[in-house]
Amino acid sequence: MRYILHQWAGLCSLRAGLGQVRLYEPATQDELWETLRSLERPPLILARGSNLVGADNAQAMPVLRLPKSAEFALVEQLGPCVFKLGAALSLLETAKLLAAKGCGGLAALAGIPGSLGGALAMNAGANGEEIAARVREMRGWDLRSNQPWNWRREQGGWGYRRSPIGKDILILETILELQPAHPEEEKAAIDAELRRRRLINPKGASAGSVFRNPDAQNPAGRLLELAGCKGLARGMFRVSQKHANWIINTERKPGSATDCRLLVNEMKARVLEKFAVELQCEWKWAAEL
Ligand SMILES: Cc1cc2nc3c(=O)[nH]c(=O)nc-3n(C[C@H](O)[C@H](O)[C@H](O)COP(=O)(O)OP(=O)(O)OC[C@H]3O[C@@H](n4cnc5c(N)ncnc54)[C@H](O)[C@@H]3O)c2cc1C
Repeated sequence: MRYILHQWAGLCSLRAGLGQVRLYEPATQDELWETLRSLERPPLILARGSNLVGADNAQAMPVLRLPKSAEFALVEQLGPCVFKLGAALSLLETAKLLAAKGCGGLAALAGIPGSLGGALAMNAGANGEEIAARVREMRGWDLRSNQPWNWRREQGGWGYRRSPIGKDILILETILELQPAHPEEEKAAIDAELRRRRLINPKGASAGSVFRNPDAQNPAGRLLELAGCKGLARGMFRVSQKHANWIINTERKPGSATDCRLLVNEMKARVLEKFAVELQCEWKWAAEL
């Protein structure tokens, strides 16, 4: 099957990872099955790479990304505010599209810069809301057993940045249930959220918050700031002066995933030493998937 050789750094928003990947982007489900049959091992699933750190691997690993083709970016209305949606759609375009149809409920999440598939896998959340609350069904493919995978709301399995989607499950589409909304008001709410994000997010290439918040009283950012992490740096990566739970690649140049890992480890070690709290990294690391 056809693939493109890419450096990891070009595929993830933090620009981390000096290793190569063989990137497969099948446009149809038939091409997808053909790709999977041709591979020696299940590929790593990638979407927008906004929560993923690449790797410095010597050998090019197989990576699968669903393109925004007709099949993987489909939008089908099933009921007044019920939609079947392809996993390759971005969260923002989904929110805007459904708002225009008079359906609301995604504005709080619209500033999260990922795909629908990525948002489901991570149970992306913001402003006290999570994508999980809107999901009625998911349909996917188990890359390890080569079997269909289906999920319905009553099966549960969601938690804070945790989803029922296992590592080798590729989500193809989902059914979301929204609520009726006035299109103009919903659009205004989305625009306001995007403006808010532009103000609060540190500038530079990033992958969002580094660590989960241990609890509401102790946000990771506060612990990291008190542990003196602001400004710590390794290679291309630096802890933001604006937000201690945020690493930026200031020059947006390819950086080593190992440097990034060492910086994250140092942040974690400082908080452990000062507060005896073991922070959990929110990001996915290609080397560990
Ligand atoms: C500036 C910035 C702000 C952010 N703010 C937030 C925020 O407020 N809240 C929040 O929750 N996150 C935030 N993030 C993190 C990130 O955007 C989200 O986790 C997003 O949902 C990841 O989507 P993605 O398409 O980029 O997934 P990727 O980063 O490509 O992948 C993330 C994980 O999802 C898996 N995955 C992707 N697609 C599929 C699929 N189709 N099927 C199965 N698994 C899949 C991948 O294998 C990987 O394990 C932010 C990131 C940035 C850069």
